[in-house]
Amino acid sequence: MRIGFIGTGTMGAPMARNIARGGHEVTAFDLNTDTLRALSDAGIAAAPNARDAARDKDIVISMLPNSQHVDDLVFGANGIADVLSPDGLYIDMSTIAPTMTVSIAERLRARGLAMVDAPVGRQQQHAIEGKLLIMVGGDEADVERARPVLDLMGDTVIHCGPCGAGAAMKIVNNFMSITINLAAAEALILAEKGGLDPDLARKVMLGTVAGQGHFGTTYPAKVLKGDLEPGFMIDLAHKDLGLAVDFAAAIGAPLDSGRLAQARYDDARKAGRGRQDWTALYDFLRAESKAAVKTPRLAAGA
Ligand code: NAD
Repeated sequence: MRIGFIGTGTMGAPMARNIARGGHEVTAFDLNTDTLRALSDAGIAAAPNARDAARDKDIVISMLPNSQHVDDLVFGANGIADVLSPDGLYIDMSTIAPTMTVSIAERLRARGLAMVDAPVGRQQQHAIEGKLLIMVGGDEADVERARPVLDLMGDTVIHCGPCGAGAAMKIVNNFMSITINLAAAEALILAEKGGLDPDLARKVMLGTVAGQGHFGTTYPAKVLKGDLEPGFMIDLAHKDLGLAVDFAAAIGAPLDSGRLAQARYDDARKAGRGRQDWTALYDFLRAESKAAVKTPRLAAGA
């Protein structure tokens, strides 16, 4: 296939290389000409601008920093929307706002052009090895058209729903990993300031839910089965968080995530859930937010 690739930075460059390695004819564009030149050894042609990279291609891929970059690329002055092939497919793999993804997909659809969103999980090393996890949103037929090329960049390609669903899944995933990073950092500082070896603390935590995570351990065993009978009850979790918050205050360690969690466990107790399993926090927050939950509008049929 003839592929246009726009945005050959940290992630885009190795992704474009893997597509070229897969036998496709790749033409790339990036504002930074150094990154483009560095791709010539992979047989990737450098286009002088985004339109030339996108013109007459079977698939055009973008991998840009944020929402505005992608909107400008497609619909800005000299945007690629005017040169995308009606038989082609546009795949945005950047991490951007799902509302922007849907907006771009709808404007392209009005011109008879198809789009798939396919943001990626994991890091640069996985991009180099072709082992990204790719979260895809789009019509079944469009996703199947994209799949041979996506398979060259990732070892796990998951169709998440209509256009916009890949972007939404990526935001959910990143919220989780970015937020637990704060708790991980605070836990290691708490260990260190408490006179413990942080390496040893990490080893200990890899043997418990702290390091193993809830999704593979407690959630499937309890709340996701509808079982709120306490294995470890919310009252006790709240007590233990209090111990951590007080310990941190005594030794001058930061514990912002701990204090926030303490307040929410406290809310659950006030709602009468103190003797439920700690995973019932999910059930509590879900019930609390139900009135406010709105189904996001995704571009079904886009
Ligand atoms: P990067 O900054 O290294 O690369 C972005 C590239 O886009 C740069 O080379 C830049 O020159 C180019 N660019 C910007 N505007 C352009 C335009 N109008 N036309 C052409 N080129 C343009 O960023 P990255 O780390 O490769 O990330 C790309 C996307 O992937 C981001 O949305 C990021 O959030 C996401 N992501 C990154 C990682 C990671 O570990 N780096 C992991 C998963 C997802």
